[in-house]
Amino acid sequence: MLATNGRLKLALQRSGRLTDESVQLLRSCGLAFEHSRQSLSSPCSNFDLDILAIRDDDIPEFVQDGVAHLGIVGQNILSEKQARTRALLPLGFGYCRLMVSVPERSRIRSVRDLAGLRIGTTYPATLRAFLKKQKVAAKIVKLSGSVELSPALNVADAICDIVSTGSTARMNGLRPLLTVMESQAVLVAHPQSLSDKRSGQLIERLLIRVRAVLEARGKRYLMMNAPADALPKLQKVIPSLKSPTVVPLAVSGMVAVHSVVAEDVFWDVMERLKAAGATDIVVVPIETIVR
Ligand code: ATP
Ligand code: ZN
Repeated sequence: MLATNGRLKLALQRSGRLTDESVQLLRSCGLAFEHSRQSLSSPCSNFDLDILAIRDDDIPEFVQDGVAHLGIVGQNILSEKQARTRALLPLGFGYCRLMVSVPERSRIRSVRDLAGLRIGTTYPATLRAFLKKQKVAAKIVKLSGSVELSPALNVADAICDIVSTGSTARMNGLRPLLTVMESQAVLVAHPQSLSDKRSGQLIERLLIRVRAVLEARGKRYLMMNAPADALPKLQKVIPSLKSPTVVPLAVSGMVAVHSVVAEDVFWDVMERLKAAGATDIVVVPIETIVR
């Protein structure tokens, strides 16, 4: 299943909203490679992997056809291209939603009101499936860009487009009506290369790394000193301290307590840990957690 050079190929977006985070994720996995907009393919110097940098729209087909064994692409593109790929893992970035918006002053209030109207979109397949499920018969106007202008140009009565905040829609005098799908970047694979021995092994090795990096995201390693008898109180403050590492200190009756905590709760609990008797609280970043 591997190409003649015996290396795995992973496709990512050459230049766009997914590029930086895709590159960062792979680098956090310890992969050393150059990424430049100019080159289509860059070899990893420390893993049997080549990185292919292409348009995000081409990624599902590349992976379906086995030109790339793996790809990083938005669920929105995957849904629209309907290529045969296996989604392995959501990656926690590239969040956006595909939404139907209508002109601010329009009378359209619900999905039912779209019946018989024209909806402009670059996502005809996804929209068609959604409307079918909703049992609404609307006309889909397939566009290739500038979707947000189509109501003003009287090409459409509503639009279906990707938004991350809704502010672009409002800027164009549009009001968000409903969400067709939520999306984030995912790692996808060519199904047969998972079952192939050599490429399957390489993919599994890479997956262990990606999972370990994702697992560590948003987590911090917490260390503190405390009187041994303060332990029950400390555990009440942080539920994840149920099975902390407790190490006796040279000073008798004192212990060091180590645990992993979510970074977003850390500041909330720090003062309470102090009040419960903890001192010398140290928080350090975690790069990977291998389970
Ligand atoms: P390409 O030249 O590769 O075709 P593009 O212009 O189609 O690039 P981008 O705008 O870079 O694509 O978006 C890439 C992906 O980023 C989208 O398909 C989607 O999954 C995700 N994304 C996240 N937030 C947004 C957003 N606010 N608008 C559009 N896409 C977003
Ligand atoms: Zn694109």
